[in-house]
Amino acid sequence: MATIITEECINCGACEPECPNTAIFQGGVEFDLGGAKQAALSEEIFFIVPEKCTECVGFFDYEACAAVCPVDCCVTDPDRPESEEVLVERAKELHPDTDFGDSPPSRFNPTPVAAADAGGAAAAGAAAGMQMVAAPVAGVTGRVEKPVIRPTRSPKGGEIELTRSLELDTPFDEVLGHVKRRDVSGASRIVGLALLALSPLLGALPHKTKAAIEDAYGDGRFFSSQLATVLNIVQNFILYPVLFIVAAIMTGRFTMFTEGDRGAITLGLFIAIAETAWRLREGVFGYKPATQMNYGGSFYGAPLGIVLNPIVARFMRGRRSGWVPVEGFYDRVFESKREREKRYGEVYNVADFEHGYYIRMELPREIPPSAAKEELGFADEMPDYDLRLAVEADTVTVSGSVSDIELRKICGVSPAFPADFKTEIELSGAAGGFQYRYEDKLLEIAILKDGA
Ligand code: SF4
Ligand code: SF4
Repeated sequence: MATIITEECINCGACEPECPNTAIFQGGVEFDLGGAKQAALSEEIFFIVPEKCTECVGFFDYEACAAVCPVDCCVTDPDRPESEEVLVERAKELHPDTDFGDSPPSRFNPTPVAAADAGGAAAAGAAAGMQMVAAPVAGVTGRVEKPVIRPTRSPKGGEIELTRSLELDTPFDEVLGHVKRRDVSGASRIVGLALLALSPLLGALPHKTKAAIEDAYGDGRFFSSQLATVLNIVQNFILYPVLFIVAAIMTGRFTMFTEGDRGAITLGLFIAIAETAWRLREGVFGYKPATQMNYGGSFYGAPLGIVLNPIVARFMRGRRSGWVPVEGFYDRVFESKREREKRYGEVYNVADFEHGYYIRMELPREIPPSAAKEELGFADEMPDYDLRLAVEADTVTVSGSVSDIELRKICGVSPAFPADFKTEIELSGAAGGFQYRYEDKLLEIAILKDGA
């Protein structure tokens, strides 16, 4: 009997890559048979081409598709009985270059797993990162037994495929710099020079405010979070000791050029060092590259931010458009709703600059809780999705797939956990080239406008 897929199929796709004969196809997909294109056998669900299915004879002593199917809908077809000899012959026809030997693996002749050997075999399988599958009993057709021993899971994933060659050779940060660049002239150059002069002070602001100014002005030569923070740190190494000396003199603790001012200088420097370590902790302790660090503010940055935020907000208007579909992008309160929406590829924002677009898409960090997750031995952390990125004309398409077969099973039985998503983002104009970066579940795409 050939294997068929019944109507219970939930389209999880777990079976397709398991088939040694490439006999399984997604619903609606044409297939090749004898050199001629054939119409799909099903429009809605995955299907098996019987002329290509050997019930895995020649490769395994069980049906591989049935072994991974989370809803047990890969079953032998009672209307199409086929002997082992027929299936072996089919395997030879399908794989003319393969030597199947005299006794190829076959579900008709399962390898017995002696009780005494079971432990050793299981250990070997676990060591190889494989799942152990109990062999079916000879003569019994239909359901294939499920894995009996689960190794600790280390899920696969994280491939990124580009389906269009608009990708630029230039490094990501450089492309992003071009995207954010503004044509500076006249009055705007005066603003830039003012920002440059004020950088040692503005560097004290919280990272978000500095990033907003950087985005709004758009020319890193005049203002960047990185440079402003460094200048502010240098300034604080002078400012803090001076402040302590002034405070001590004003409170009458000592007079200038005495032993007392050495203590004030030491205290000021100590605080400056501690503050610097705290502000640059992501780079110093977290080994983040300088371009991706969060440049924190100084002690006096928060009150300064309160004063300057309204000015920055007004400056931002008209400089930057785009949209954030999920409000609370950075807010922990929205974490679980956001996690769910990330699984549908819906958590992203688009910034529209003069020379290009900057897209940031957050991908899921956690595998949603479920009994299947516990049973299959997954930890909480979501493995990286396989991503396909296409930038064509004025549309960016990001497709994500959970590639780990076992994890796809969880998708099949969990609500709001699709195994695949596809997000299309329309741009306001044509794209000329792009570069991307993927790190820590954040996909960033910098796209230059056509002709920019
Ligand atoms: S039984 Fe084996 S050969 Fe047949 S469709 Fe399933 S995986 Fe492919
Ligand atoms: S593994 Fe998934 S796609 Fe394949 S038959 Fe089962 S439910 Fe359908």
